[in-house]
Amino acid sequence: MKELDYIIVGCGLASIAFCEALQKNNKRFLVFDDGSQKSSRVAAGLYNPVILKRFSEVWKAKEQLNIAMPFYTAIENKLGVTIDYKLRILRRFTSIEEQNKWFTASDKPSLETFLSTQLVKNNNENIDATLGFGELLHAGRIDTETLIHTYQNYLVNKHCLQHETFKYNDLEVNSDHVIYKDFKAKQVVFAEGFGVKRNPFFNDIPLTGSKGELITIKAKDLKINYAIKSSVFIIPLGGDLYNVGATYNNEDKTNTPTHKAKEELIVKLKSFLICDFEIVNHVAGIRPTVKDRRPIVGRHAEHSRLYILNGLGTRGVMIAPYVSRKLYNCIEHNDVLDAEIDVRRFQ
Ligand SMILES: Cc1cc2nc3c(=O)[nH]c(=O)nc-3n(C[C@H](O)[C@H](O)[C@H](O)COP(=O)(O)OP(=O)(O)OC[C@H]3O[C@@H](n4cnc5c(N)ncnc54)[C@H](O)[C@@H]3O)c2cc1C
Repeated sequence: MKELDYIIVGCGLASIAFCEALQKNNKRFLVFDDGSQKSSRVAAGLYNPVILKRFSEVWKAKEQLNIAMPFYTAIENKLGVTIDYKLRILRRFTSIEEQNKWFTASDKPSLETFLSTQLVKNNNENIDATLGFGELLHAGRIDTETLIHTYQNYLVNKHCLQHETFKYNDLEVNSDHVIYKDFKAKQVVFAEGFGVKRNPFFNDIPLTGSKGELITIKAKDLKINYAIKSSVFIIPLGGDLYNVGATYNNEDKTNTPTHKAKEELIVKLKSFLICDFEIVNHVAGIRPTVKDRRPIVGRHAEHSRLYILNGLGTRGVMIAPYVSRKLYNCIEHNDVLDAEIDVRRFQ
């Protein structure tokens, strides 16, 4: 029987951030992933510290960015890939009232570092934006598809990842260790995103799940190297390609792209994009959203060797490194978790 410190279930953004903490501390671990959830792979990957609907600061934005930015740089260096693309994000104004709200918000101490006070005029004839834009500072895009793909290959080469379904019924849980197949581990961290619904140990947590769909368009005449946030986001990928998204659907829990969502994205896009475009890709995934909009982290109420790392919602890129560190310090150093993220609030 092989001895491990950790078994991890899932290999999305949450798990990768936790694996990095384990490797830094020379822990022995094995990850299982079956590709049944797609959220991290299909994500637009934006990190932006402001909620652009309401012009308010994202929960713990500064703390999250302070951890996330060096985290992604370290992964780039370690894997020899580029995943972090700094990006100007322009919020398109649709009324004078919105403009006023932006400039009021940019005066607030919590937001002044993130919202530029300069009105950006539109100089692109393929975009309808007569009232101009507000510019968001310190934002960017993580290429999550490249991250997940490269990181999973890296783990496979280190014999730390098996591409298979973790079978919950085969897990033997004891007071001081767990046994799974030929492995004996000190603990299990479940990081399955919306897949946690199949997990008998944690399937009672109130994860609502919000399906998101995204299309990729080719628009030869658009020629922008910044992202635009209007009724939908347009995000430049290079080579005249742009991601456009995303939709929100709390009913459908499948990962299948739908005609309805595609139509919704096209209608919204055409409300401010004037040039021709063709659709070259269409993806869908379920965001692991929670009613109170906070991550779900911590120890199982009965089984002290089982942990959860979930509820990253719509902002996994920024939150994952932050909550992974919290969980690691909770397990290894007995740090107390903030009540607002602790799974105990639901137990
Ligand atoms: C369309 C869309 C756009 C988005 N855009 C952004 C964005 O711009 N910025 C941002 O920050 N966030 C965005 N998100 C949200 C972000 O994707 C999520 O917050 C994040 O990916 C959640 O990561 P996770 O690791 O918790 O879950 P997941 O990515 O779902 O990963 C869980 C993994 O566990 C595996 N798994 C589950 N059960 C088992 C099992 N029993 N055995 C083995 N493996 C299992 C799954 O296959 C999966 O690989 C977007 C999401 C969507 C859908």
